[in-house]
Parts: sequence; C-alpha cells; structure tokens
Amino acid sequence: MKSRAKIIDRILEEIRSHHSFCVVGHIRPDGDCIGSQIALTLALKNQRKKVVCWNQDAVPQKLAFLDPQGLVQQPKPGRKFDCVIALDASNLDRIGSVGECIAERKSLINIDHHPSNDRFGDINWVSQRSPSTGELVFRIMKAARWTINPRIAECLFTAISTDTGSFQYPTTLPETYLAAGELLKRGADLAKICDEVYQSYPLSRVKLLKHMYNHFKLTEDNQIAYVWLKLKDYARAGAEPNDTEGLIDHIRDIEPVVVAVVFEELEENVTRVSLRSKHPGINVGEIATNFTGGGHQAAAGARMEGTPLSVQRKVVKEVKKAIKSLKSK
Ligand code: 5GP
Ligand code: MN
Repeated sequence: MKSRAKIIDRILEEIRSHHSFCVVGHIRPDGDCIGSQIALTLALKNQRKKVVCWNQDAVPQKLAFLDPQGLVQQPKPGRKFDCVIALDASNLDRIGSVGECIAERKSLINIDHHPSNDRFGDINWVSQRSPSTGELVFRIMKAARWTINPRIAECLFTAISTDTGSFQYPTTLPETYLAAGELLKRGADLAKICDEVYQSYPLSRVKLLKHMYNHFKLTEDNQIAYVWLKLKDYARAGAEPNDTEGLIDHIRDIEPVVVAVVFEELEENVTRVSLRSKHPGINVGEIATNFTGGGHQAAAGARMEGTPLSVQRKVVKEVKKAIKSLKSK
C-alpha cells in the first residue's frame, strides 16, 4: 500500500510540474482505454492544463456517447509536450502511429494493468492486480482530491465496467465495487451507460454472432472452442473488425469450454488472435506473448502473420499443450 501511495505521489508531482500534456491509449481502443483517456483529459483540463487526447483509431460507435465534444483526436506530427501519459498500453507498439508524434516530450508516464507491460515510461505505474486502468486513474484523482464531475464519473465507470465484464471477472476486487459505487454517487448514469455499451448492438454484430454460432469448432474434449471471422464474413454481415469486441464471450461461456479463441482475418495472411481462459492454471497472456502479443492470464491477444491454417495450427497446438500440462499437474 505504501509503495503504491509513493508512485501516485510521484505521478502527481510530475503532473503538477508540467503544463502541456498528451494523453494516449492503445490501438483498437476498448472501453477501459477510451474511458480512462477521456476522464484524465477532462481532469487535467479542470486543473487548467493544456491537454490533447490522441488515439490512432477512432472511438468505437458504442463508446461515442463518452466523447460528445470529440476530445479524442488522431495524432498530428510536429507537436511538443511537457508530458505524455500513456494509459492501458502494455508497450509503445500498442499506441501505433501516435508513437511517431510524441517524440518531443520532457517525460513519459506509463499507467497500465497488463502483466506484459515492458515499463517503457520514465515513470511507470503498472498494477497487475488492478482489473482496469480506469480504476488506477480513479485512484490518482482521489489522491489528488480533484473533482470527479458526472462526465468524468461516466467515463471511469464505463472503463471499470467494461474491463471487469460488468464486475463479473474474478479479477474484480472489493475496491472495484467501492470505486463503482462512488462513481455512481458522483453522477455516472448507470442506465445510460448500460444501454449504450451493452444493449445497443448494431445488427451487423448480431449477424457476425450468428455466423460464429454456426461455425465454431470444438476440440480437445470440447475444452477448446475456436472460430474464424474472415473478411468475407464481415462483408456479408456489413460489419467491421470493431464490431467484434465481446463476441468471443459467447463461445467462452459454454460449460465444457476452458479456452476460447477467435481468429480474425485483418488482411490476407494477417490474423488477429483473441484468447480467453476460464481456468486459473491456463495463462493465455503467456501464450499470446509467445506469439509477440500480450495481455492478461484470462484475456489476451496477438497479431500474427502466415496462412490462416498455419496460424490456427500454431495457436491451437499451444492451447492444447497448456490444457494437457494442467492434467499432468
Ligand atoms: P482482445 O482479445 O479483447 O482484443 O484483447 C484481450 C487483452 O489482450 C486486452 O487486455 C489487450 O490489451 C490484450 N491484447 C490484445 N491484443 C494484443 C496485442 O496484439 N499485443 C498486446 N501486447 N496485447 C494485446
Ligand atoms: Mn484495460
């Protein structure tokens, strides 16, 4: 607890000593990334700081309600900052093209919760224990005694809710519920957030889900479920890769399944692999890291090159190995 307080103090000291900021997050941003980025941007503006908020990719449609002012912008070259703050990004590759536009800076603060984080900042707060980056940003604001207004509360609640699977993943801590309770008290609108994030899926996503249910495969005694989403499947559903977030849960949430894998074709011979583990003894973060990706024990991903079949064979082989080693333990 003491060392955590110290790192928050260091971050706040650094923030107080600077005027211009750039708040960055990872490519293909999720609720934790966007919610944390916008919340911190708003809070820094309230402290009369000059702030830009950059992400290589656009805010996904279902999170657009968090950004009515269009705070999240694409990176621009030639800008100088006192301080860059990276949120929810486990390494500098994860911020994509933003990386080329933040070279002119005095310091870089890295705030994240991925075990695979490579501590790329000048100041690093990597709390593997925390289920979301949003919760870390909340702690910073509490320690600083900054006002958490309803807009900030809405962003942080969304960040925490999405990265905990609506407070269901076993990573969820007692403090997480307390933080969520306080954010509701500060004006986060639970009905609005749940409606926007969980109850407003586009039809195109439902069509992809239909495809998944029709085509998923089971192997290793039904303990591994996997499915392909090819470019032609997106086209047929009228969907985009952005529509796929959370689809993997549908094949994970089957009783005998221990590991779920979704293979998404990004372009010819480039695949995004998403992995989920339901067994604490199977660390899909390690599997993804072996394929130059990363993530957590229970949720991870990687981008792989090669023919679809070779990618599938490599990944399924490693997952089988992990399941077999569990039996021999
Ligand atoms: P998802 O499958 O939802 O895209 O990602 C699950 C988790 O793995 C997320 O926490 C995400 O940050 C991490 N992750 C996904 N893809 C990659 C990747 O290519 N590299 C790294 N380092 N982490 C990833
Ligand atoms: Mn996160």
